[in-house]
Amino acid sequence: IFDLSICLHEMIDFMYPRFLEAKINLMAEISPDLKVEGDKNQLKQVILNILNNAVEELCDLPEERIIKVKAYRSSEKIRLEISNNGSQIPAHLLENIFEPFITTKELGTGLGLSVCKQIVEKHNGQILVESNASYTTFSISIPEAIERT
Ligand code: ADP
Ligand code: MG
Repeated sequence: IFDLSICLHEMIDFMYPRFLEAKINLMAEISPDLKVEGDKNQLKQVILNILNNAVEELCDLPEERIIKVKAYRSSEKIRLEISNNGSQIPAHLLENIFEPFITTKELGTGLGLSVCKQIVEKHNGQILVESNASYTTFSISIPEAIERT
């Protein structure tokens, strides 16, 4: 059992130089004490893959570049929302975005989000994507771990 809020802070710190370099405005609202059970490093990889995609999406956006990270607990679940502004993901891509080898990048592997989905589901969780003209949001929910004493 570990605290996902700490993983989030660590991954944000890790990415910070890239946020600065890409002139990204990061808005984080992370509740403390978000206990989940499972593989800490795998969930860090999920966070990193999604943040990486957000940075790649924002790199050549002419407007203000924004990433929002929100994490909280709600009805015995830990919820994590990572969103970025940028262009809307077209419907056909949205349908297949978690499939392996789906990429729109010249040097992309298309593996990042399929790995995210596998890891989240292994933790009995769900991952969803929503995209509109202003924001693309990846939402994850994982059962809250019950601490036995
Ligand atoms: P890769 O990054 O190697 O292309 P991913 O599985 O991480 O593979 O992402 C698959 C595709 O989903 C990307 O190529 C991109 O088209 C789309 N995508 C992922 N994240 C975002 C995002 N935040 N905004 C817009 N498109 C995204
Ligand atoms: Mg990726």
